[in-house]
Amino acid sequence: MSNKKLNGGKLRIIPLGGLGEVGKNMMAYQYGDNILVVYVGLMFPENDMLGIDYIIPDFEYLLENRQKVRGIIVTHGHEDHTGAIHHVMEQLNVPIYATPLTRGLMEVKLSRGGMLEKVQLNTIQAGDKAQIGPFTVEFFHVCHSIPDGVGLGITTPVGLVIHTGDYKFDHTPVDNWPTDYAKLAEFSGRGVLALLADSTNADKPGWTPSERVIDPAFDQVFRAAKGRIIIASFASLISRMQQVANAAVRHDRKMAFVGTSMVENARMARKLGYLDIPDELLISVEQALKMNSKEVVLMSTGTQGEPSSIMGRLSTGTNRQFDIIPGDTVVLSSHPIPGNEESVYRTINRLFRRGANVIYEAVAPVHVSGHASQEEMKLMLNLVRPQYFIPIHGELRHLKQHALIAQQVGIPEEHIAVVENGQVVELEDGEMHIGERIPGGYVFVDGAGVGEIGPDVMREREILSRDGFVLVNLTLDRHTCHLVEEPEIITRGFVYAPEAEELLDATRQMVVQSIDCASNGRMQSDLEQTLKSFIYSKTKRRPMVFITMSKT
Ligand SMILES: [Zn+2]
Ligand SMILES: [Zn+2]
Repeated sequence: MSNKKLNGGKLRIIPLGGLGEVGKNMMAYQYGDNILVVYVGLMFPENDMLGIDYIIPDFEYLLENRQKVRGIIVTHGHEDHTGAIHHVMEQLNVPIYATPLTRGLMEVKLSRGGMLEKVQLNTIQAGDKAQIGPFTVEFFHVCHSIPDGVGLGITTPVGLVIHTGDYKFDHTPVDNWPTDYAKLAEFSGRGVLALLADSTNADKPGWTPSERVIDPAFDQVFRAAKGRIIIASFASLISRMQQVANAAVRHDRKMAFVGTSMVENARMARKLGYLDIPDELLISVEQALKMNSKEVVLMSTGTQGEPSSIMGRLSTGTNRQFDIIPGDTVVLSSHPIPGNEESVYRTINRLFRRGANVIYEAVAPVHVSGHASQEEMKLMLNLVRPQYFIPIHGELRHLKQHALIAQQVGIPEEHIAVVENGQVVELEDGEMHIGERIPGGYVFVDGAGVGEIGPDVMREREILSRDGFVLVNLTLDRHTCHLVEEPEIITRGFVYAPEAEELLDATRQMVVQSIDCASNGRMQSDLEQTLKSFIYSKTKRRPMVFITMSKT
């Protein structure tokens, strides 16, 4: 198929994040002693991960092979592809390749962590070619919900691999720069060994609408709004900022960005020319708050119901600078990340309760996806015509669905590898094999630090949050081991005091009866077990149970 002379050997494709989940994308390509990394993403926690700020990929494999890592490519500026950058760069010293906007957004992050000087950033453009170890990487433009995104044509010693990154086929994108069909067709002409393509929307039939459909939806919102308009989106959704700015111009409102990440990203994107907002349109939040409410639109973060975000704080009335006032129109211009739906809808309800009119994806087209739907996936597969196919980015259901789509366009099932994080796929002598498994778990990041929180701690936090705890305090006579006082029982987050009286009395009695002097050490854990099953039999709940003993 290919007329290129190939060296043979083995290409290992190593998914470190983003396969089997939505977020924390990271992929490694290894040929011999050379590793090329694509993405350094983070994932926002699901609502059962308590007290976790975000999650980063487990990149232990890269640390174990640190001398082999030749470079990192970041295809676009979204958090799920860039967000772990300072965690990775603290431990790996390798060059990063990114387009100007992606680079600018990463610089914002790095300078916040005081790391900007330490990192070697290389600017690449769509159409460029870079030699990274044995990999010749050609960058081609793709549309997405942020400008300046690229996909990768990676010529490896075993053949040409296409890595789409996040993409859609938008004919009328906000920045007027459609996905590079011609380049994809050109790759196809050379013969493509494998395609790795974004699966995020693999369960969405049809075509993803153009970003343009948002403009009339925004017009409608702006026309109808009686007071302030507050639009929430991701801080990295640069295209959406442009659309809000355009609507503000059309409807004679001034625009203010709220929150550090929004302000900094907008400043960077304007400086680099990716965001066209005239100076006279932009005002500070302070100015906006002094103006007539019909004359302003504010743009903030917090679309996922994160309690610490501006939208989260507005919904609970705990925002420092300003509050929701009746008559505000709040627009959530985003889609809930899978797992976040519950907290998003809770936030929407709270905002309504405070008097805001809330407009979200389900009631008006104020958001479109940046990811290809099924027909676009077929187009990608048909343009590239790969020998082998590996769906990437998505939960297992998305990856499986994408595999079915590939079969529909004629790729044989045995030429498709559906794998999750940590499962290596090998390409050798024109064939694809499933390789070894390497660790690909979660690294939790909370305020306290990175990776100090394991699954055990998460489980404990979960129990505490759901069922609370029961603490039993026993004071025993040093010699006789008899109770000197009534057992003291303290509960938190478990039962409300009035209905608890009876239960606590019963518990107290049970404890008194169970006190057995024979063996103190064993007694304590036995008693904890007995108490747990007793409480469960009475309440069908499983709080954490602690027993403390003091002797006098
Ligand atoms: Zn993206
Ligand atoms: Zn993504």
